[in-house]
Amino acid sequence: MTASASPPDRAPLVIRMHAADHVAIVANDGGLPAGTVLPGPVGSVGTGLTLRERVPQAHKVALVDLPAGSAVRRYDVTIGYARADIPAGSWVHEKLLDLPAARELQGLPMATVKPAPLPPLQGRTFQGYRNADGSVGTRNLLAITTTVQCVAGVLDVAVERIRRELLPQYPNVDGVVGLEHTYGCGVAIDAPEAPIPIRTLRHISLNPNFGGEVMVVSLGCEKLQPERLLPPGSIPIAGSAGSAGSAGDAPSAEPLDVVCLQDAAHVGFMSMIEHILANARVHLERLNRRQRETVPASALVVGVQCGGSDAFSGVTANPAVGAMADLLVRAGATVMFSENTEVRDAVEQLTARAATPEVAEQIVEQLGWYDRYLERGRVDRAANTTPGNKAGGLSNIVEKAMGSIIKSGTAPIAHVLAPGDKLRADQRGLVYAATPASDFICGTLQLAAGMNLHVFTTGRGTPYGLAECPVVKVATRSELARRWHDLMDVNAGRIADGELTIEEAGQALFDLLLEVASGRRTWAEHWKLANALVLFNPAPVT
Ligand code: CA
Repeated sequence: MTASASPPDRAPLVIRMHAADHVAIVANDGGLPAGTVLPGPVGSVGTGLTLRERVPQAHKVALVDLPAGSAVRRYDVTIGYARADIPAGSWVHEKLLDLPAARELQGLPMATVKPAPLPPLQGRTFQGYRNADGSVGTRNLLAITTTVQCVAGVLDVAVERIRRELLPQYPNVDGVVGLEHTYGCGVAIDAPEAPIPIRTLRHISLNPNFGGEVMVVSLGCEKLQPERLLPPGSIPIAGSAGSAGSAGDAPSAEPLDVVCLQDAAHVGFMSMIEHILANARVHLERLNRRQRETVPASALVVGVQCGGSDAFSGVTANPAVGAMADLLVRAGATVMFSENTEVRDAVEQLTARAATPEVAEQIVEQLGWYDRYLERGRVDRAANTTPGNKAGGLSNIVEKAMGSIIKSGTAPIAHVLAPGDKLRADQRGLVYAATPASDFICGTLQLAAGMNLHVFTTGRGTPYGLAECPVVKVATRSELARRWHDLMDVNAGRIADGELTIEEAGQALFDLLLEVASGRRTWAEHWKLANALVLFNPAPVT
């Protein structure tokens, strides 16, 4: 946000989320100068109000006098308490607000909201790759799993050669990706929480975009031995594309395909590389025989996430994603939302929306576990919100959370996944996948959960991408969408500009998802932008 004093590009515009809100946010590029007379919100308490000071874009203006100690409401929720008297027309920023205490996890409303069922949406399809376990890929990728970081350098060399020398011979394969990570050795592998990173790696290897082909590169002496990463029976039968339903989840009869670098048969570096290339060929042959076919939209497993958020996230992009989520649920698809610290202050909304009391209990269990995890590090959910969030107008985690959970739409929460868990075939609809809010860790855990398409909203701007799955990026503001015209796939800022309703933006996103699922490339794919996998390891290292 620049400190430019240039005049706004159009009539002053402020957006209030709820009629009971005490604040509205400034929509104009560059903010609004002191002395600006506000036109609205139409018929509201803000009409005719004069700004007492400059208010930057996406920041809040007080619509009423807020005496010291009084509750300040946005989204019809108390986002803070005034630290001093705040006269109407003032800029309400984070230094003027005290953070409310987190809601206790006892006495919550459990599955009390029963929304009217959404009418089914039938007939929508995309072109996807059917897998033997019933899942569907949106990309046809060779993924090479690793047991330990020690092998990453060798695998990088092998992957580059596969890309250059082998992939041109297998035109139906979209790419090759080395599943590299920092886990595997030097870790307390028997610690109570070690199963989280281990199952995350196991389940990522089985992501629908990898076609059921599993290939492992191991060092040999590491703690995470290949049989521990992928025990017998953990891999569905490979290479039966097009025969979904017949193979089911039956375990593979084939032994695990492992290239072990310390194997005595390897004499010299080139021997390791040639071994990896030779094994890769077997999988590439099978992947190359796969074809896209028409599948129902219900095969989509869409992970939604926000990162680099600003006060527009909860006004434009996240509500549009929420409308998209409702369409996906109506089409029988699965939508995962996550980010523990960004939903914690909305816990009572989530438990109330749980489909059953058992699901509500699972939400409480996951968020309670995460509270204790943060307490061990002597912090709490307020450690979330970055300098960029605050510069973007988000005063604290409560305000950020209210704008974040809108991504989940209005459907009942049907299932809850613990970190690293994988969706079962019978788990559909809206899912709370409990993860940290860190963009890369959340994306990594959503990959493990079985995500085949990712939607990521951003207000400040992040060039985030994943090699394992297409990422559709949604800008919250038109200014960002214009500046990052070749990084942002969708401009939800048009909602604030008055060009598009939230419902229209949600429908457009849904339509775009079907195209991307069918092979249309995102900007991140076009530029080959991919962030590293980052595991959530709450257990000690040694
Ligand atoms: Ca995030």
